[in-house]
Parts: sequence; structure tokens; C-alpha cells
Amino acid sequence: MSDYRLGIDLGGTKIEIAALDPTGEIVIRRREANPGTYDALLHKIAEMVQQTLAETAPVATVGIGIPGSIDAQSRCVKNANAVWLNGKPFGDDLERILGAAVRVENDANCFALSEAIDGAAAGHKVVFGTILGSGVGGGIVVNNEPLTGPHHVAGEWGHIPLPWVRQEEFPLPKCFCGNEGCIERFLCGSALAELWKGPGNRSTHGIEEAAQAGDQTAVKALDIYIERLGRAFALLVNLLDPDVIVLGGGVSNLSSIYSRVPDMMRRYVVTPECKTEIVKNRHGDSSGVRGAAWLWG
Ligand SMILES: [Zn+2]
Repeated sequence: MSDYRLGIDLGGTKIEIAALDPTGEIVIRRREANPGTYDALLHKIAEMVQQTLAETAPVATVGIGIPGSIDAQSRCVKNANAVWLNGKPFGDDLERILGAAVRVENDANCFALSEAIDGAAAGHKVVFGTILGSGVGGGIVVNNEPLTGPHHVAGEWGHIPLPWVRQEEFPLPKCFCGNEGCIERFLCGSALAELWKGPGNRSTHGIEEAAQAGDQTAVKALDIYIERLGRAFALLVNLLDPDVIVLGGGVSNLSSIYSRVPDMMRRYVVTPECKTEIVKNRHGDSSGVRGAAWLWG
């Protein structure tokens, strides 16, 4: 019997583990540094799982969210920003070391799942979750299950071109994926920071306060960003028509997104009655571990 669910959120610099009790409450949580090499990572995760199991129940399910995805054919990690994970059969290796089944999923899918199950998107059938942070990730959840697709790329809207592109947006910015004009390059946190304070800036902290105080550069940066976000969400609605779009990442803390983007989105959506809800996440930084734990539904 598996009353407890363990969820692990693997980041570029840290590993976080949490145990959810049968009601979905986090009862144990700990965080350690990511050792930065593959074998050390496997052993560190095994150690953290064993420690947590010792305090919960002898049996618990294990789910892991990673900043990348598992290739359906090779079963190896791909697209991870911790590049030393790429090409490694991470899930299979962990199962061997732990002697138990492990479910591995992209971290944006875990975020969307966490918010769909008991977060800001609870009770909705089709949920699109997006993390607007250092990159732009996305995940689709239908009936409380991640929709991943045969190539494990469903929801990766960060690498779709920004729609209804304008003359002044050329030349399109290059993206690490090899294409240009990707949504990620326009809507990641640093894109907004650079609109406000110029190239090389990364932080959007204080931008709304600056705009309210009359900083015209901040006002214009927010106007441009919100209009682009409206276009990008309209694309999502025209393609997927989710019941709700739930936001995470640093940019999700900006309140003007929720007050202004819905009107902007309606200008581009194919149906003028568009009422798609745009909501802020409920679980914040806990969404990673929670969603990983809920991979065992
Ligand atoms: Zn791209």
C-alpha cells in the first residue's frame, strides 16, 4: 500500500524532496545542493529518498520533475539545461538504484499538474500551465493527467514563434533551440527586464511600482510585454482552448498581467466571447515537488 507520495524537484543547482500524505499535505521537505555530476546525483537522490522513506511509510511512490524531458524511444534525458543530464537514462538508472518504479516528467508538466490537482486550476478539465521565468515552459493537463504526446514535447509553446509578429519586431531574436522569433525570447523574465532597463538586465523586481511612480520606460516595457503575452495566449486558446491558463515563475507575480492580458488576448482570439481564465499559481515554489508527487495519481 502506498499512502505517501514522494515528489522530487530537480533543478540546475538544487534537489528538493517532499513527502505528501494521503490528503496531499506536505509532511516532510528537504533541499540539498545538486552535486553537478551524474553518478553523484543518482546517489544523492537515492540517499534523500531513503531518508524520507524512513520517516514516512515503508512504501511510497516516487515521482521526479526534471528541467528537460525523457525521450520516448531512447529513454534518455533531452533538452535539459543541466546539460550533463542529456543522453543519460535517468529514470531507468534511478529505478535500478532504488529498486522501485519511478516516474519522471518535465518540470513544467509537474507545475501544471500540481496546480490542476489541488491548486489554482483545480476543478478544470483542460489546464495549460506555463512558467514565465528564465525560460518559458509549458504543460498541458487534461482530466488531471499530463498530456505529453509521443515525442514528449506537448505544451512546449516557448519554442513556437511569437504570433502576429510586427514590423518593428524584426530582426527576430535568435533562440538557443536554433530557430528565431520563439515566444521564449519575447516572454522570458529577462526579455521584460531588458525592455525596461536595457540589454543584460535580468530582474523585473519593482517594475510595476516604477510604472506607477511615472517611470515611462517601465510603463512602455509593461505595455509591450502585456500585448505580446496577449498575442501568445490567443494562440494557445485558438489551438487548445484550455479552461484556464495558470502562471508560475517570477513574471507571474506581476498583478497587471491578470487585469490587462485578458482584454489584450480577446483582440486576437478567433472568438470574441473568449472568457479563458488567467490565474496565478497557488503553490508557488512547492509546485515542483507537489506535481512530481502527483505523477502517481
Ligand atoms: Zn526556441
